[in-house]
Amino acid sequence: MRVLPTLHQWLEHNLSTLDAIIFDIDGVLQVKGSAARGSRRLIEMLRRKNFPFYLLTNDGDHSTEEKADVLNNSGLCVSPDEIVSCADGLAGLFGSLEQQYPDGSSEKKDASDNGHALMGTTNNESPIVTDTSRDFHINRYSKQFLHKLSDTPFFIMGCLGTPCFAQKAGLKTTRNLQKIDICQGIIVGERNYDWEKTINAAVNFFIRYPEAPLIVPNPDEYYPGQNGQLCIGAGGVAGFMVQILKSYGITIEPLYLGKPFSPIFKKTHELLEKKYGKTIPLDRILMVGDYINSDIKGAKDFGCRSAIVLTGVTTIEMLQKSEIIPDMVFEILG
Ligand SMILES: [Mg+2]
Repeated sequence: MRVLPTLHQWLEHNLSTLDAIIFDIDGVLQVKGSAARGSRRLIEMLRRKNFPFYLLTNDGDHSTEEKADVLNNSGLCVSPDEIVSCADGLAGLFGSLEQQYPDGSSEKKDASDNGHALMGTTNNESPIVTDTSRDFHINRYSKQFLHKLSDTPFFIMGCLGTPCFAQKAGLKTTRNLQKIDICQGIIVGERNYDWEKTINAAVNFFIRYPEAPLIVPNPDEYYPGQNGQLCIGAGGVAGFMVQILKSYGITIEPLYLGKPFSPIFKKTHELLEKKYGKTIPLDRILMVGDYINSDIKGAKDFGCRSAIVLTGVTTIEMLQKSEIIPDMVFEILG
């Protein structure tokens, strides 16, 4: 596998083959709490040329304002509107579903007073068989999401940034466990909540309402914490709940928004075309990341070109064993 020295050098000769670049943040632009070597110069070069770029993150428990502050403190000057978070997908999700069902009146008639669509089983019925087709998903979730305009809240596990991404998307929210039964679904955030009580309540909620949506902005099962220790991510918590429910005979399919899933890429592509006022073909977008199963898989699935930098979670040995191969490999950014 050919490893090129720096992305910056490659871009100096090949920028005309691209229309936009999307960067992962942690492990790429920021390494161990500091701006990655060459990151500042690279971003300055792109700005100078007015070359389209965005920063992407699966960090759903920090608002883009908070994330920009962290980057600014690490020495990389970035504004919040240059960052797309996995939790930004919440707004896009509702938008697309409402477009598909602009009226929604017939859907609403099917819903019960507490906000749950009457499609699932009760405790006494057989476990549901989940159709994994895309149409079924859209149809099923739309029944829930059409309640957006009502006062029916979503239950939020943990933190979703300050300001909260769910509220930014126009959703009513609550973290009050006493109110979980009036919620139309659950959104999994991270950090600072009573896991035992909340996970117990959430699992029992899905036993009662197996058709309610489980929305997971950050699909990552874990992430690197301080001093290299591993921290359990929202994807890990969601997977844990799904596994328990599966053992109980109930299949729940979380709706993931972050990399490698498409909502975060769709949102970024839309923003790129809107901000720069031109059509940008997917195969002229380069995703630069450090995580094979998230950044590179997501980019390839979405149709973008991909480059990995070996400054984050992936080593050359891991890459050589991987079935997912990026288009390019760089030692460092610049
Ligand atoms: Mg990363």
